Amino acid sequence: MVIMNTHLHYTDPFILTIFGASGDLAALKLFPALFALHEQKRLPKQYIIIGYARTQMSTAEFREHFITVVRKNYSGQWSSVQEQYVKEMTEHLEYFTGQYDAEADFTRFATFRSTLGLPIHCVQLFYFSVPPSMYGKIADGISTIHTNTDPIRLLVEKPFGDNEASAKALFDSITAHFSQEQLYLLDHYLGKKPVQSIVGMRHSNRILNTMLRGEELQSIQISAFEAQRVGKRVGYFDSAGILKDMIQSHLLQSLALMVMSIPVKGTAENIRREKAAVLDSIEFIPDPNSVCIGQYDEYRTEHHSVQNSKTPTFIAIKLHINRENWYKVPIVLRTGKSLNERHTFMVAELKKFDFQPEDHEPNRIVIEFAPQQKISIDLVGEGGAHESVQHMTISHPIGCGEDTCLPEHGLLFLDALRGEKKFFLSIHEILACWKIVDSIEAYLATGAVELEMYASGSNGPKGQDRLLATEHSNWYDPHNNLS
Ligand code: NDP
Repeated sequence: MVIMNTHLHYTDPFILTIFGASGDLAALKLFPALFALHEQKRLPKQYIIIGYARTQMSTAEFREHFITVVRKNYSGQWSSVQEQYVKEMTEHLEYFTGQYDAEADFTRFATFRSTLGLPIHCVQLFYFSVPPSMYGKIADGISTIHTNTDPIRLLVEKPFGDNEASAKALFDSITAHFSQEQLYLLDHYLGKKPVQSIVGMRHSNRILNTMLRGEELQSIQISAFEAQRVGKRVGYFDSAGILKDMIQSHLLQSLALMVMSIPVKGTAENIRREKAAVLDSIEFIPDPNSVCIGQYDEYRTEHHSVQNSKTPTFIAIKLHINRENWYKVPIVLRTGKSLNERHTFMVAELKKFDFQPEDHEPNRIVIEFAPQQKISIDLVGEGGAHESVQHMTISHPIGCGEDTCLPEHGLLFLDALRGEKKFFLSIHEILACWKIVDSIEAYLATGAVELEMYASGSNGPKGQDRLLATEHSNWYDPHNNLS
């Protein structure tokens, strides 16, 4: 395989320690992503991955577990070639049994690590794949075995905190020992190629950016439909709910990339600053027409612990950007589980001319993340050979190319190894997102909005329509609108 993109491989030795290596995220996402990097020869000859968890396991058992889950979660056809690669890769794997809050275990860990044969001053990544309540304790532990001059990077999974105050406290507890530069706050959505493509497209395309200005827009809509039920994740999901699961980071981050001002230099610092600025200016106006919540009819039968649950599995919200040129442009986000299809798309609807009839469809930009990955511009108008109103749709793929296809966590691992933070979050952005989510949650807690039941396999509760009823707009239906 020819690797054209130099930023998509890494050549220096490194050590990656995964805390919570016995868990679900490691098995479902991290190990398959690391295997993809190894299989595609994007990793150096010398590297070590250490699984750290409380579960008793030998390195031999950890290697077997790694092979099993990688085989099970492999996206393509598993053959003797992959079997050979994965066996070869296990030579790079080690396992350490330890508590997350015991200084003595971290001391033992430091001794263990020093026997592994890599220079201690190579890049060291520490991945926090444990419940957030453990983050501060692990940071304490790492600080006891490191000096601040070591080239170390802490990769921390979302959700970062549970609200604005707890996120701030968590940040303070980690930065008591480590600098912000050492902190890589992760939302795997930003490892998706089509999401990353928004930055490149906007940075290089004046037509697109002219259309994405507040004064040109009738609405912005983001829809993330999932066909899957909550299933085995019900324990986590029932305490988090759809607002924190999907809106708090994934959809607000996607929105920020779409509506932020484009910096001249697309550095991590500049992009994160612009995203933070726009997130700071987003407002939720507490009103029954600004939010709709629903729960699919079979949710309460998923597990006996949720038989009386009022946790929403669907939410639609309306936001505004508190800036002059975005005045009165409704921004609507909706997402839900157990819907009729898996489909994620962002739509910018352009304003119509005052003289156009109400029923004329607007021109639109549609960015689709799943199942297809493409940007489409839908121009509607009269002219040409036909007298009637026509759609002219231009589409272009925005997914990965032959030599750039990697799982989300794979791209983010490579970025972290290279010290590139463009697709990691700043604490400023995270706090701004929590502020929005906290205000929605506080309003829902008043009971002003009723939980609507919806049928599994439908497109969600009817109440979602009231968000746009007074906005001269409708939810975009990709099946009716675009060919
Ligand atoms: P798990 O619940 O599977 O926990 C991971 C590991 O952490 C477990 O194997 C266990 O290891 C240890 N652990 C679990 N509970 C506790 C506890 N109460 N106290 C101390 N250690 C505990 O989580 P996931 O792997 O699903 O997720 C890891 C992190 O990533 C979480 O913060 C989660 O919110 C986040 N996340 C997960 C996603 C997913 O798809 N799973 C998606 C996005 C984010 P041991 O007992 O061996 O120490």
